Amino acid sequence: MKGVVFVGNRQLELQDFPDPTPGPGEVVLEIKASGLCGSDLKSYRGPPGGAAAALGLGAGATVIAGHEPCGVVAAVGPGVDAKQARVGQRVMQHHYRGCGVCHHCATGWMQLCVEGVKEVYGLTGHGAHAQYMKCPARTLVPLPEQLSFATGAAISCGTGTAWGALHRLSLQGDHTIAIFGQGPVGLSATQLAAEMGARVIALDTNPERLARAEKFGADAVIDPSKTENVVAAIRELTHGLGAHLSLDASAAPSARQQAVQCLRTWGKACFVGEGSTVTLDVSSDMLRRQVTIIGSWTFSTVGQAECAHYVADRGIDVDQLFTDRWKLEQAEEAYRVFDAQKSGKGVFLM
Ligand SMILES: [Zn+2]
Ligand SMILES: [Zn+2]
Repeated sequence: MKGVVFVGNRQLELQDFPDPTPGPGEVVLEIKASGLCGSDLKSYRGPPGGAAAALGLGAGATVIAGHEPCGVVAAVGPGVDAKQARVGQRVMQHHYRGCGVCHHCATGWMQLCVEGVKEVYGLTGHGAHAQYMKCPARTLVPLPEQLSFATGAAISCGTGTAWGALHRLSLQGDHTIAIFGQGPVGLSATQLAAEMGARVIALDTNPERLARAEKFGADAVIDPSKTENVVAAIRELTHGLGAHLSLDASAAPSARQQAVQCLRTWGKACFVGEGSTVTLDVSSDMLRRQVTIIGSWTFSTVGQAECAHYVADRGIDVDQLFTDRWKLEQAEEAYRVFDAQKSGKGVFLM
C-alpha cells in the first residue's frame, strides 16, 4: 500500500509500505477517511522528526502521517473479543497508545499514560494517510450509523478537541464565549458551542474563516488585525463585562493574552493550540479578577464516543467543515492548500 510520509520542510512523499497484518490484541482498519489536522502542519513544515521531538517523543522510524483515522475493521488479530471489534464494523480510532493498565489508560486517556504515551499514531506510529492502518483493538471507538466517515475523522481529533475543551470549560447555554482562531478546531468549537446554545464571538485574521464562522453560528466576528483594541471590542459586545469563557485555538501569544484579558471576573479561559508561549501579568490578568486558565489536550476514548453521540443525536452537520476532499495521490496539493491556512478542513477519502 501507499502511505503519506512527511520528509520535512514542507515536503512529503507517497511511499510504499507492506499491507499490515494484526498481531495479538490488534486490528487492521481499512481507512475510509483521514482528516488533516492543524497539528499535522507542525510535522509538515518542520525538520524531519521535529514535531515528535516537540512532544518529548524521540524521532523514530519513517511513519505514515494522519491522526484522524476513520474506517471499517478489515482484520482482527488473535485475542480480540468480538465486543471490542468485528470485521466490517464502522469505527474511529483514538490515536494514542499507552501501557493499557495505568489509571489514565484504564479511563481512556492513553495520551496521559503514567509511563508516558508510547505511540501517537501519525507521529511516532503509522497513521491513517494510507489504505490500511494497524492499531490495538482497545483504541477503537464505534462510529454511529448516522455519521459519515469524514465526520468520524473530524471527531478523531479536531472536532473532538473542540468538544473536549468546551466540556473542560463547563460551557452553558447562557454563556458568551470568545473563540480565538477559526481553523478546524476553532470553527468546530464555534459550531458546537452555538449548538449548545451559547453565544459565540469568533476571532480570526482571515476574512474567509470569519465568514465561515458566521455560517457556523457565530453571533459576532472580530478581525484582530483590523481591530485596535480586541479586548475592548469584546467588552463592548458583553455589556462592558467581558466574556464568560474564552478558548484559544490559534496558539498565537497575543491571542492567548487577549483570551485571558477579555474575560469577565470569574471567567475561564482554555488553551488548546499547541506550542509557543504566553506572557501574562498575573496580578491584573488573573488574581484581581479570579480568572481560571485551563489547558486541554484532546479527549478520552469515552469523550470521543460521547462527542460522536452528541453530533449524531443533534444532527450537527460536521461534514460542512470540510472545504477540501482529496484522494491520497493528491497529498502534495492537499497539504499545500492546508498550509495556506485560508481554507476550512481537508480530508482524504479512500
Ligand atoms: Zn498507561
Ligand atoms: Zn490533531
